[in-house]
Amino acid sequence: MGTKRLDCLGQLSRHNVMVAVFCKGCQHFAELDPAPLMMRFGWGAAPEDIPWRCSECGAGRSRILVGRHARLAIPYK
Ligand SMILES: [Zn+2]
Repeated sequence: MGTKRLDCLGQLSRHNVMVAVFCKGCQHFAELDPAPLMMRFGWGAAPEDIPWRCSECGAGRSRILVGRHARLAIPYK
């Protein structure tokens, strides 16, 4: 047992952690409330498992970075 990981929607929601997503196609970055995602995909679903689609350019899951990877990819900060 190491540090506690927030790796499912239920945990993220409970700790009020937003889900970061970044589109490699158009550089679109967004932070989403995990609560509605949890309603749809279940408490134990991981953000990585959600079939994301970019709302800006329509890029599919393979071009979307999620969570820590999304935050690291933001070109500015
Ligand atoms: Zn996009």
